[in-house]
Amino acid sequence: MTTKVEALTLRLRDITFFTQAFYRISYGYDATGRRGECNAVVFPAHIDDLSRILHEASRLEVPVYVRGAGTGFSGGAVPGGEGVVISTEKLRRIIHLDRDNYEVEVECGVVNQELQDYLEPHGYFYPPDPASMKVSTLGGNIAENAGGPRAYKYGVTRRYVRTLVWLSTRGEVTKSSLEGPAALLPGAEGTLGVIYSASLGILPSPEAYRTLLLSTQSDKRLMDAAAELIRRGFCPSVMEYIDSKTMHCVSDYRDIKGLDRSRSYLFVEIDGNREVVESQHRLLDDFCRRKDFSRIAAHDEGERGILWDLRRAISPSLARRGITKVNEDVALPLGRLGEAVSFIQAAAGDLDLDCYVFGHCGDGNLHVNIMTDRRNRREIERTELFVERLFTRVVEWGGTLSGEHGIGITKNRYLELLFSPPEMQLQRDVKGVFDPEGVLNPGKYFERKQETRG
Ligand SMILES: Cc1cc2nc3c(=O)[nH]c(=O)nc-3n(C[C@H](O)[C@H](O)[C@H](O)COP(=O)(O)OP(=O)(O)OC[C@H]3O[C@@H](n4cnc5c(N)ncnc54)[C@H](O)[C@@H]3O)c2cc1C
Repeated sequence: MTTKVEALTLRLRDITFFTQAFYRISYGYDATGRRGECNAVVFPAHIDDLSRILHEASRLEVPVYVRGAGTGFSGGAVPGGEGVVISTEKLRRIIHLDRDNYEVEVECGVVNQELQDYLEPHGYFYPPDPASMKVSTLGGNIAENAGGPRAYKYGVTRRYVRTLVWLSTRGEVTKSSLEGPAALLPGAEGTLGVIYSASLGILPSPEAYRTLLLSTQSDKRLMDAAAELIRRGFCPSVMEYIDSKTMHCVSDYRDIKGLDRSRSYLFVEIDGNREVVESQHRLLDDFCRRKDFSRIAAHDEGERGILWDLRRAISPSLARRGITKVNEDVALPLGRLGEAVSFIQAAAGDLDLDCYVFGHCGDGNLHVNIMTDRRNRREIERTELFVERLFTRVVEWGGTLSGEHGIGITKNRYLELLFSPPEMQLQRDVKGVFDPEGVLNPGKYFERKQETRG
């Protein structure tokens, strides 16, 4: 008997579908380490092929899973069984730079860093900078509405999306601004439509930077300092919190002179024109002197690069720490951050879990990482209990389950904590309008939990 996927490949004989185990396994993962199943992987290099694949797949009711670089932390790109993974890695053209309108048009498979490298010599930059920017694609960034260290000053991805060329589940191509239905695509995790290309807002590169690490022994003092600085009109582009355990771990991986591993840190960058940067730096300097905070400052571009390498090494250095990294990214009102860090550390201690906290604290976004071992059933149960306690408390505090990593398959079972039954139904209804056959990234976000390995 011919399966639906075989029927699809027979109808599209001029497009190569890779069915070997190598492809099905390699494209079955994302950064969560969860593995899903699929029947084939396909690499369209042109919008017409993408359109035909979607059109035939929806006619045959074959599930499709669009995949950028697979760096997602919530399982959004992990396939759910029968179906085809559509990789965007061949859709990698920077189409047009419009200097007058501060816009650049890109295909969805362009890697964020490739765009930054292209823009830099022209004197521009694209503000959203997820820590995965060297690998993750702009399509994946839009689908997850990615944030990053610079989000405190510049905001997250949605703010920079001007127009999208996107495909419906039946393969119809539409070019639209974010005023119509396409407004729902950023952050929809590939469940409502497929992004082919985007015109993105860009900005002139800042004239100057100041990059520093501030430290103290007490997390609460550090969080209070962040809140007080903001109240006093301090407006850095980056304000990142790194707890002492995380700093200990990252400095094993990438050490720098003067780092005290017993302290917690704020990673701060100020950017803009020279006068603004200097006056903001004076404000910070004065604050640190009065409050007796230690500082490590970058004096040139080389030292700035070293501090950024240290920041970007956090996730890889933690990943070396344990077999399974459970990575939550709750977002909270700023005034709750100090309390939240104390709660997280106490709750992890009670459950005997190895926990690391860091994140975009200027933005209220904390990354809570539990290093565990998926083969240790008891530890996994304790981790699940911890996550449930964390999410329950975060919602009570007026926060959300995800600041930037999305819901995917790792958090969809907790959505009822956040949304009422009518809100959940409304979201399912929207999905039904966009994707009546239910073939576009099924099992994700507000749909039922998908089974995976690992
Ligand atoms: C080390 C590390 C650091 C990270 N740091 C950050 C950070 O600072 N900020 C942040 O926000 N995230 C961060 N992430 C998470 C992740 O990198 C982002 O979610 C990123 O946007 C995913 O991009 P991707 O290309 O890897 O997408 P994938 O993981 O391949 O896919 C993610 C989702 O997007 C959908 N999708 C992909 N392309 C398309 C398309 N063309 N059309 C429609 N849907 C599509 C997929 O179906 C899936 O649901 C980090 C991850 C890692 C591993």
